[in-house]
Amino acid sequence: MKVHLLAFGAHPDDVELSCGGTILKMVKFGYKAGIIDLTEAELSTRGTVERRRMETGKSSKILDLSIRENLQISDGQIENNHINRLKVVNCIRKYQPEIILAPYYEDRHPDHVHTSNLISESNFYSGLSKIETGTNPYRAKNIIYYYQHLVDNPSFVVDITDEFEKKMEAVKAFESQFYNPESDEPETFISQKQFFDSLKTRGQYFGYQIGVEYGEPFFVKSIIKITNLYEIFS
Ligand SMILES: [Zn+2]
Repeated sequence: MKVHLLAFGAHPDDVELSCGGTILKMVKFGYKAGIIDLTEAELSTRGTVERRRMETGKSSKILDLSIRENLQISDGQIENNHINRLKVVNCIRKYQPEIILAPYYEDRHPDHVHTSNLISESNFYSGLSKIETGTNPYRAKNIIYYYQHLVDNPSFVVDITDEFEKKMEAVKAFESQFYNPESDEPETFISQKQFFDSLKTRGQYFGYQIGVEYGEPFFVKSIIKITNLYEIFS
């Protein structure tokens, strides 16, 4: 099955946190979207792999995804090696997305950095016919990088004002991970109340930058082609 937009994340919940609103918006426009999680986040302090699988299923329904897969690469060992590249190449060739969403290549979490490089390189190799996987070569034209902890000079911001509440529902589906005063599990960086609150303030901050209520920032390495200045800047 072909999807228009394929988002890769190191851990189930990464994509929801960073660009869940944009995915919801694209699905609303009628595009097919999918998420590929690289690991099952088995190193997470809170929750279990089984619970995270259930939470992932719940969130995927909220986002109305066409596909969601897990590559079962070991958490904390997302190496940019041939075996892992082939796993990603297989996905890119199978789903032939026009747009790939990947984590920005600098972040506090090393898994996010490694994922970014792994996806960028795999998309390149996916276009080479002599890399044989039993499927036709295919390279997505565009990789758009979403930000996680670090936001560094975005190329553009997507207006997610109408999608923000639903995005937060998708994030809250991962109830083992985020702020929950009833939980007796150890507190983590992302289970603090400040982290949860920051999702809203960050959305508002980037929304403010483009004159709307909520926004999600992105980065592209390539130069953006514009054919109608008025459409973009008026
Ligand atoms: Zn993550």
